[in-house]
Amino acid sequence: MTGPYGDSTRSVKAVAADAVPGAPVAQPPVPAAAYHIPPSEDDSLDSYGRYHNPTWRQLESALAELEGATTALTFGSGMAAITSVLRALAKPGLTLVVPADGYYQVRRYAVEYLAPQGITVIQAKCADIIDAATGADVVLAETPSNPGLDVVDLHALAMTCRGRGATLIVDNTTATPLGQQPLSLGADLVVASATKSLSGHHDLLAGYVAGCHVDQMAAIEHERRIAGPILGAFEAWLVLRSIATAGLRFERQCQNALAMALTLRAHPAVRSVRYPGLADDPSHEVANRQMKRFGGIVSIELEDAAAVHRFVHNSDLFVSSTSFGGIHSSVDRRARWGDPVGEGFARISAGIEDTDDLIADIEHALARP
Ligand SMILES: *Cc1c(COP(=O)(O)O)cnc(C)c1O
Repeated sequence: MTGPYGDSTRSVKAVAADAVPGAPVAQPPVPAAAYHIPPSEDDSLDSYGRYHNPTWRQLESALAELEGATTALTFGSGMAAITSVLRALAKPGLTLVVPADGYYQVRRYAVEYLAPQGITVIQAKCADIIDAATGADVVLAETPSNPGLDVVDLHALAMTCRGRGATLIVDNTTATPLGQQPLSLGADLVVASATKSLSGHHDLLAGYVAGCHVDQMAAIEHERRIAGPILGAFEAWLVLRSIATAGLRFERQCQNALAMALTLRAHPAVRSVRYPGLADDPSHEVANRQMKRFGGIVSIELEDAAAVHRFVHNSDLFVSSTSFGGIHSSVDRRARWGDPVGEGFARISAGIEDTDDLIADIEHALARP
């Protein structure tokens, strides 16, 4: 058999080094600031660490493979990737749409740094983003959105963008390429934080961009060369190491998230639950069409902030932590960060613990006063 392979097989193959006799099966990281360069100029050689790194290239080829892209570029964080893409593509005079209900720092960057430079910034919720795209030059969509878990119909949005020659960028952080492949649905570029589920161990920050248009990717690489928001070689190596187990981890996280969503929905202390994998979730129909897996995050609404604090206090397995997608299950009360949600809104990230243990822990934590 030569494929098409399943996601775990693709994840393992994507990070495999060439089979060179006598060489390590897993390639070591290459931390390098400067490389030996012959006096005669040869631009094909690695020269300086802000421009080139062999460990990045390995990681970038794995990311491109998983996203179904021709090229990927790594960055020092998800925000470094997103802001680099916006700087490269959103020029003065253009209109940019950013999510009103997505990751909050993105709209903050657009409003605080891009708008003063003459870029018209429109904020649109998932439900309104297709309408907003009809007047845009560059559209950044986030689906499922963090933290509300609304879903954008990517095929329909891509058609709208294509119709007017707008560039569509999709933030694929929450779904990961194992949950959905936005490029195959018509997006021009994927941006993501690899800090979350993709690396999945709560121990590094990283980001990437993936795409298929040579000119766009060259402009973004140029931006990275000049501005320098690069990923360290050791972090790149850790992300590579993590990608090999991404299929395993993500499968368990999705399974845990669905079980948690079902349990939470049935509990009287829980006012509402959002999870795109629930058959009666408002986003389920679109999610079911465009996602392979529904992800490891569940959003819930408890009575108030104190109820979320009690839940964490009573739990043995859920840690209170921001970020998500790691091996430990965690809870984050988003109002503390200024997200436009209720005081009792909590984003729950499913770890890789045994499903039955997590369910028992939730029931125990919600039952106690
Ligand atoms: C966390 C996150 C980011 C930013 O990523 P960092 O690695 O923290 O810079 C961007 N988009 C989404 C959807 C995120 O959840």
